[in-house]
Amino acid sequence: MHASFPVDVDLALVGGGGAASLVLAALDRHGVSGLRVAVVDPVHKRGQDRTWAFWGLPGDDLDPLLSASWSQVDVVTAAGRRVLTLNPLRYAMLRSAPVYDRAAEAERRLDAVRISVPAGDLHDDGQRVTVRDPDGRDLVRAGWVLDSRPRRPKRPGRTSWLQHFRGWWLAADRPTFDRQRAVLMDFRTPQPERGVSFGYVLPVDDRFALVEYTEFGPELLDDAGYDRALRGYADLLGLDLTALRVREVEDGVIPMTDGPFESRPSPRVVRLGTAGGATRPSTGFTFSAMLRQADQVAQALAAGRPPVPAPAYPGRHLWMDAVALRALDRGHVGGVEFFERLFDRNPPERVLRFLDGVTSPAEDLAVMRSSPLLPMTGAVLGDAAGRLRARLRR
Ligand SMILES: Cc1cc2nc3c(=O)[nH]c(=O)nc-3n(C[C@H](O)[C@H](O)[C@H](O)COP(=O)(O)OP(=O)(O)OC[C@H]3O[C@@H](n4cnc5c(N)ncnc54)[C@H](O)[C@@H]3O)c2cc1C
Repeated sequence: MHASFPVDVDLALVGGGGAASLVLAALDRHGVSGLRVAVVDPVHKRGQDRTWAFWGLPGDDLDPLLSASWSQVDVVTAAGRRVLTLNPLRYAMLRSAPVYDRAAEAERRLDAVRISVPAGDLHDDGQRVTVRDPDGRDLVRAGWVLDSRPRRPKRPGRTSWLQHFRGWWLAADRPTFDRQRAVLMDFRTPQPERGVSFGYVLPVDDRFALVEYTEFGPELLDDAGYDRALRGYADLLGLDLTALRVREVEDGVIPMTDGPFESRPSPRVVRLGTAGGATRPSTGFTFSAMLRQADQVAQALAAGRPPVPAPAYPGRHLWMDAVALRALDRGHVGGVEFFERLFDRNPPERVLRFLDGVTSPAEDLAVMRSSPLLPMTGAVLGDAAGRLRARLRR
């Protein structure tokens, strides 16, 4: 234990993963200084433990950290291959190691205190927040806490799916991948009974690529199931696995639920990352919202304001996602059909901006119109009835 617990700071980051790393980097970017910062996490994140894929405008300070980026991506179904031109956006791939390194650099510059034990309860008296360890000992007293520890939603969702996946980083001795062609979603994979599956390919160069199998649905696979699915997808791509080496394996499970994630549980505690609702329920994409909120937090602190970001997504998007999840879960609409229509009937930029939660109500209406209307209407009514029942029960 640190000799002088509790540590007194202006800002405590409880949880030091993706969301907190982006906040630290943003504090640096906005030139915040003189702020006393503590990071409480039993694990000091380093190295490669995940790969973030996201879209956005090029030209920010993440650009030098990217492993690759693409101005076109493919969406593939049994019916054919659509090439989506993303201009002015680009699809980008960021491995975790440079993000954690950037955060560590920012920590050093801010002279932040690292506390490598798990945090337990937070006690917020409205003026300061005390961060305790699981045995109730005070670790930190902070003006504000940004809490990104993984947690369940406040109430179970009416639909609770998971995005679960396994990826192989494949290395080849000779040119095997097309560096220019990233596959965003390839729905030719065998579809599960409930849910939707797809593969994707993110090439770093012609000899090294991330090939991944993903499912959106209620049930996880077992270990052999993911390997089988990935081997099947590699076959579909015409890859000869005997000639390739699996350099790294990347597994993940991300919540896809309309259960509410509380972003402000008490006056001086702000939740960020997946715990704060940054994961888009209909896709599992999280990174762009975390990045946006990190920037807002740092901007606020630089201006001497409370570090409270705008909600990760507008309420109407969360409602649309609840309806879509319900329609997919209850079989009102097929997963492949849903995504096919979304990409067929909207310009790619609109779909991507919608999924990031930054479209206008008029654009949202256009997206709504492009979805299979009748079954979705059934889901809307079912969703309203579900809400009413839940409210009556409460
Ligand atoms: C393998 C993988 C790949 C992903 N790829 C993408 C992607 O391509 N695009 C995208 O948009 N999203 C992606 N995501 C989703 C999301 O972006 C990541 O999960 C992201 O890391 C979430 O950040 P976070 O800070 O919410 O959680 P985490 O990064 O998981 O950080 C949580 C932190 O809390 C710490 N912690 C836990 N308990 C305690 C405690 N008691 N006290 C203190 N600290 C604690 C943990 O040690 C951890 O460091 C991916 C997720 C995974 C798992």
